[in-house]
Amino acid sequence: MMTREHKLKIMPGTGPAYRTVTARDFRKLPQLQGFPRERLRAMELVAKVLPFKSNNYVVEKLIDWDNPLEDPIFHLTFPQPSMLRPEHLSQVRDAAASHDAERLRETVHRIRVELNPHPAGQIHKNVPRLRDGTRLTGMQHKYAETVLFFPSQGQTCHAYCTFCFRWPQFVHLDGLKFAMREADLLVRYLREHPEVTDVLFTGGDPMIMRAKVLRTYLEALAEADLPHVRTIRIGTKAISYWPYRFISDEDTPELMAALRGVIDHGRHLAIMAHVNHPKELGTPEAEEAVANLRALGAEIRTQSPLMRRINDSPEIWAEMWRRQVNLGMVPYYMFVARDTGAQHYFAVPLVRAWEIYSAAARQVSGLARTVRGPSMSCTPGKVEVTGVAHVYGRKVLALRMLQGRNPEWAYRPFFAEYDETAIWLDDLRPAFGEPRFFFEEEETGLGGGEDPAVAVA
Ligand SMILES: *Cc1c(COP(=O)(O)O)cnc(C)c1O
Ligand code: SF4
Repeated sequence: MMTREHKLKIMPGTGPAYRTVTARDFRKLPQLQGFPRERLRAMELVAKVLPFKSNNYVVEKLIDWDNPLEDPIFHLTFPQPSMLRPEHLSQVRDAAASHDAERLRETVHRIRVELNPHPAGQIHKNVPRLRDGTRLTGMQHKYAETVLFFPSQGQTCHAYCTFCFRWPQFVHLDGLKFAMREADLLVRYLREHPEVTDVLFTGGDPMIMRAKVLRTYLEALAEADLPHVRTIRIGTKAISYWPYRFISDEDTPELMAALRGVIDHGRHLAIMAHVNHPKELGTPEAEEAVANLRALGAEIRTQSPLMRRINDSPEIWAEMWRRQVNLGMVPYYMFVARDTGAQHYFAVPLVRAWEIYSAAARQVSGLARTVRGPSMSCTPGKVEVTGVAHVYGRKVLALRMLQGRNPEWAYRPFFAEYDETAIWLDDLRPAFGEPRFFFEEEETGLGGGEDPAVAVA
């Protein structure tokens, strides 16, 4: 048993080089040589629709190749034939067989639109403006305290999750010039908004950025010295997909110094780690990455959607939270997966989600119960399923608005008819014969759109 060091241990250049695995080359992986050709072909076809990228760490350290079809990380990162509905899969198959590139492109585009009708809209929702009218397309400001910031160089990831719907964002732009301009706009916006206490860097994965670029943003915030901005949150999946980011990449020392700068400036540095399965925290590399971030003075909070075939059992969540607490991380959010490209493959109904959440919570101590129950990021706000209740002999679903588009709505409890098949807020009906939910009075319908903010990294 290793004892955990509490000193920062950074060893630039000693880790493995980052190598991607993509739709073009995954068939060459030695680990896949035993797979039937037909299955490999189907995986290739699925990857034409759902973006696929993995890497040498995920392949070599996370996936159990003795039993890949049962392995959650294999499902999390590699395209699976049934992630597309049979009719979609055969359409892609036919289009690919026609050797007509234009037809294939159109087929793929049409299927993507069917899977996720508003992909581009998500990043453009709640786009704030400066007082002079400038639109800030790399930002979202929906709830007063927290501004989401999408640095343009951080819109890709070290590997892609098969459930992720942020397709249009996976374009990697580099360049410091961009960063300086964007940082300047961010600071100008924050100056105009004293109600903002938190800035959340999100993506993609902001930790994909070179240290120099991330430093440009963080230093701009520190130099602006805005007294109301108390917390810098950084969403990331790098602890799971590329822990070397915090241990041994060439620019890790500069990265850690940039992060440390936030703390030295008297601000809270919150790493919002995206962790879907306890396995991701089971390698010595992940442990070291966490230990380094903690030694730096960062707090790491964790979040994950609940997904069939990946983490849909109380035992998995209980183990995940226990491991997180053991490593000094704070369980924060369980999300309901929605609007994923492969929703039929991953979706867990709301009632089942609450059963898994509560059964997991019962297995752990209070320190691991800091996590909010299954939550949906919807147009009216963020809604938590708080349980199944019995009221005067009727079974109802109890919910709570955690964040509201109208700030007055936050923390209001409400009830919906019990429905075991509902998977999203707009599948639910108000309980007790009420004509509508309280937040619908100001809304024209529920709107099913999901915020990208959080799904994740
Ligand atoms: C969830 C969310 C936040 C952050 O909410 P917290 O409860 O403070 O973590 C901010 N903006 C959007 C759009 C969100 O969905
Ligand atoms: S969920 Fe996060 S880490 Fe995974 S592909 Fe989407 S943005 Fe990247």
